[in-house]
Amino acid sequence: MGLAEEKARRKRELKLFRGHSLTEWDADPRFVERAAKILKIPPEAIPWSAACRRCAAEEADESGDGFGPLWRHFPCVIPGHEGEASLYRADNGVALYHDWHDASKWFFLAEVFASQHYGHAVKFSNRWGKVQPELAVWKLRLLVETGLVEPLPGALRAIAALPSGASPTAKKVYDGFCYLLGCKWLHTHGAPTAFTYRFASAWCGVKETQARDGIRELVERSIIVRSGLQVRPPLYGPGPGEPELLSER
Ligand SMILES: [Zn+2]
Repeated sequence: MGLAEEKARRKRELKLFRGHSLTEWDADPRFVERAAKILKIPPEAIPWSAACRRCAAEEADESGDGFGPLWRHFPCVIPGHEGEASLYRADNGVALYHDWHDASKWFFLAEVFASQHYGHAVKFSNRWGKVQPELAVWKLRLLVETGLVEPLPGALRAIAALPSGASPTAKKVYDGFCYLLGCKWLHTHGAPTAFTYRFASAWCGVKETQARDGIRELVERSIIVRSGLQVRPPLYGPGPGEPELLSER
């Protein structure tokens, strides 16, 4: 892809996000259907049609508890949970995951996705609508994995090649970091990213100690650099790479 072409594409993608905010994707049937498949939520559990919503509302009135039997229950897909869950469509059209097992908690689909990567339930939002930035990160990855948006290819070119002598752990963390920038830079192009051991462990599918070792190795090799030393959590961006490899790029 040529530079001009990529610039045009990036413009289109940014427009896509502006016209269609990250939250609005949760109300898009294409996203919900594909995300449900990734999360192993049965397709019949998607309460999409208006008719279904009306039925649910009527049921809710009769039972008086707000949760009619027309909500299809399925086994909760959050790791470590044995109860049941349902998908619900809120008034603004946003699909929400309702967990019947754990004190009736509500999750965004991206939180269910993150939970599956962390290996336990995680939430980045509270009932007052306050949202942590990590929600957007998992949302972007889920969006990429649905195939509705492609990760930014320019992110890969911004990162130095991994030398052949790098450890397998560093390779996994490196791949994860490249993927992370490919997702995040759709939204905040060129910005350094938080990459804590805990997050990197979930994101890259490695143990937390491996995430730590991998990040340290990438920093030692100048493939990633910490920016803003005072910032907590630390932010990382692409580094120059190892000097002897620069000529090969
Ligand atoms: Zn559950």
